[in-house]
Amino acid sequence: MNILVTGGAGFIGSHLCEFLLNKGEKVICVDNFFTGSKENVKELIKNDKFTLLPHDIINSLYLNKHVDQVYNLACPASPIHYQHNGIRTIKANTLGVTNMLGLAKLHQARILQASTSEVYGDPLEHPQEEHYWGHVNCFGPRSCYDEGKRAAEAFFFQYQQQHDVDIRIARIFNTYGPKMAINDGRVVSNFIIQALKDKDITIYGDGTRTRSFCYVDDLVLGLYRLMECSYRKPLNLGNPGEFTMKELAEKVIEKTGSKSKITYHKIPQDDPQKRQPDILKARLWCLWQPKVSLDEGLDKTIEYFKGKV
Ligand code: NAD
Ligand code: UDP
Repeated sequence: MNILVTGGAGFIGSHLCEFLLNKGEKVICVDNFFTGSKENVKELIKNDKFTLLPHDIINSLYLNKHVDQVYNLACPASPIHYQHNGIRTIKANTLGVTNMLGLAKLHQARILQASTSEVYGDPLEHPQEEHYWGHVNCFGPRSCYDEGKRAAEAFFFQYQQQHDVDIRIARIFNTYGPKMAINDGRVVSNFIIQALKDKDITIYGDGTRTRSFCYVDDLVLGLYRLMECSYRKPLNLGNPGEFTMKELAEKVIEKTGSKSKITYHKIPQDDPQKRQPDILKARLWCLWQPKVSLDEGLDKTIEYFKGKV
């Protein structure tokens, strides 16, 4: 198959491209290199089944090669990056998403959208099941991303209803692992880099906020299984193991043998208090569940960052 991966030079996208190439597929990786890098795909470029196409999905994309599947991952995912130019973030999730849906319609390709647990906002239900409509502030610093991704899901629904486009929607929960950018700014990479440098660990708030962390290899398999299965509604992909930020900080300090001290800072506006996926649907429809524990995944990620800092 010819498979288009947008955002393919980013953290998750580069792992996905590698996974698909290992399956023997031809991969076209589209990226504007805002948060992704050529470094992430430098090994893949040697494979003649891999094409790297610099392009911003906010602009139309016409390919002269037939495409069978599209994984639409192009969007900055870390709060500091998606808030850097919030207008572009909304555009990636609206103009960009309609461009990719239009391309999928033209090619009669199946298309998967990288949605997010952020569609649940600061959730009032816990754990979050797919039927929960969420608790999102549409007028705040996170809304460019949260509402952008919600609009993207609405576009997907309409293209399915009106044009019979074959859609898949993955609501991805916090994912971590090698190839996160040094300046990514999300909690796992921040804590590991701080610990490896013996610098203060920056917990935002009092350390009781929770997240559920999924190792990237598990997530990539989940995306693939969702693309291959027949489920056409939004589906949670994440690891239900839930940890407080204090627990995460302590684990990272212990694993790195760091001299870092934990410090507490102002919590960013609208930062969700807790988050945990219900993955019953993924288990049933995709025969998928994560296998890598936080301990194992942190060990691998720490090894990666040791070579970078
Ligand atoms: P990332 O920032 O590392 O990757 C995003 C990639 O998209 C980068 O390579 C970036 O350069 C590219 N990109 C951004 N805007 C673009 C545009 N307009 N046109 C072309 N390319 C563009 O982030 P990630 O963690 O790999 O996330 C990938 C996708 O998964 C994103 O859509 C994100 O919203 C979603 N997601 C990720 C997580 C997570 O925890 N990592 C959680 C939920 C959802
Ligand atoms: N966080 C933190 N210190 C950091 C970075 C993030 O305590 O250096 C917290 C953040 O406030 C949030 C959690 O870690 O409660 C996860 O943040 P991240 O940016 O990784 O992802 P998201 O908020 O999008 O889930």
